[in-house]
Amino acid sequence: MATGQKLMRAIRVFEFGGPEVLKLQSDVVVPVPKEHQVLIKVHACGVNPVETYIRSGTHLIKPTLPYTPGTDVAGVIEATGDEVSAFKKGDRVFSTRTISGAYAEYALAADHTVYPLPGNLDFKQGAAIGIPYFTAFRALLHSARVKAGQSVLVHGASGGVGLATCQIARAYGLKVLGTAGTEEGQKIVLQNGAHEVFNHREVNYIDKIKKSVGEKGIDVIIEMLANVNLSNDLNLLSFGGKVIVVGSRGPIEINPRATMTKECSISGITLFASTKEEFQQSAAALQAGMEIGWLKPVVGSQYPLEKVAQAHEDIIRGSRPPGKMVLLL
Ligand code: NAP
Repeated sequence: MATGQKLMRAIRVFEFGGPEVLKLQSDVVVPVPKEHQVLIKVHACGVNPVETYIRSGTHLIKPTLPYTPGTDVAGVIEATGDEVSAFKKGDRVFSTRTISGAYAEYALAADHTVYPLPGNLDFKQGAAIGIPYFTAFRALLHSARVKAGQSVLVHGASGGVGLATCQIARAYGLKVLGTAGTEEGQKIVLQNGAHEVFNHREVNYIDKIKKSVGEKGIDVIIEMLANVNLSNDLNLLSFGGKVIVVGSRGPIEINPRATMTKECSISGITLFASTKEEFQQSAAALQAGMEIGWLKPVVGSQYPLEKVAQAHEDIIRGSRPPGKMVLLL
């Protein structure tokens, strides 16, 4: 360690594997921001399912080992590089990406991936914005190109991305249907923009959705678990309808004929395929949502940094409260 270097607590991954490879270290060097970089003192950070896939070594993204996981932090600017003009020490911010990792006391990020966090949202809520809201916006606006008056089914509405999708869809004038797996989840989905909610653990819930939407079907389905639901989704769509696959954890058999008769489409999205301009567009719309008040992240389970392995187990097992999972620093 060079003289004058500051140390922090951070999670480090030295080998790909199960949750046990997430190691808490207390002697990680705090990075120094250069040029267009900022250093954020992290107060909370979001836990996203993708971080478990990356940790396991099965994802397309394979960071160089060792690494610190995570992208979505909320906190306060600690220091800025010489070229940064948009932020100063003490500003409250949230991020959509980091350079040094998010599961840490300090995170280094490029200034164009950091946004002001308004005073009406706390740090836990700030940590729930990054991946969930930017993914929801990409699915609805950039991919499905939704229009006011259309109907949308948020299939898996009670998690981080699902609740964000409900809030955005309602703000943009859509008729919003959502699903959740528990009574508590259903209640929260209704409180966050859905007009109607269904329980995806009930045997006959698809029939109930069909009955509710009638012959016309649903214009857009934002799908969180395509390997379970894609075949049913195709049957629920309207003529020319679209399924946007946000999440899928395996294969599924479908009958392609369903796409022919209704001339419907299935497309997938990847948040990190968004261009810098698309991130800026999403950020502008979401910032307006925060100012007006329709964007209100719902925080679910909260864990201290040392319980991160438990958080990774719980987010994949799915048996936890609705809302966004966060780590507290
Ligand atoms: P999350 O917070 O863990 O939420 C998972 C959601 O899936 C919950 O609403 C859960 O509902 C629901 N679910 C469980 N069983 C279901 C079923 N049979 N049918 C429909 N939904 C079901 O995860 P998240 O952060 O919202 O992410 C959701 C998915 O999107 C994950 O697979 C994630 O990897 C993916 N994702 C993809 C991108 C991308 O760029 N493509 C970006 C972000 C996330 P209950 O708990 O109420 O049962």
